[in-house]
Amino acid sequence: MATSSALSVRVDPHRCEGHGLCLLEAPGFFDLTADETAFCTTDPGPDHLIAIQAAVAACPRQAITITDAPDPNREDGP
Ligand code: SF4
Repeated sequence: MATSSALSVRVDPHRCEGHGLCLLEAPGFFDLTADETAFCTTDPGPDHLIAIQAAVAACPRQAITITDAPDPNREDGP
């Protein structure tokens, strides 16, 4: 998983089959391990968002998820 102040990107290793389409859509952001499971190489920034969304759409296994990262300054309380 890679997280920035605004985004969290995760590849589910149980779903990923190493097709590598995410690498084509977001080169430099995704890479493959030696056993061909995708992972995030860096924390996501705003400049990555469109490419990551394209990777999500291209993934045939729906292995990539993007969520809003929790706000570290948020205070939960009464
Ligand atoms: S496109 Fe999906 S299944 Fe293929 S390597 Fe990337 S995350 Fe894994």
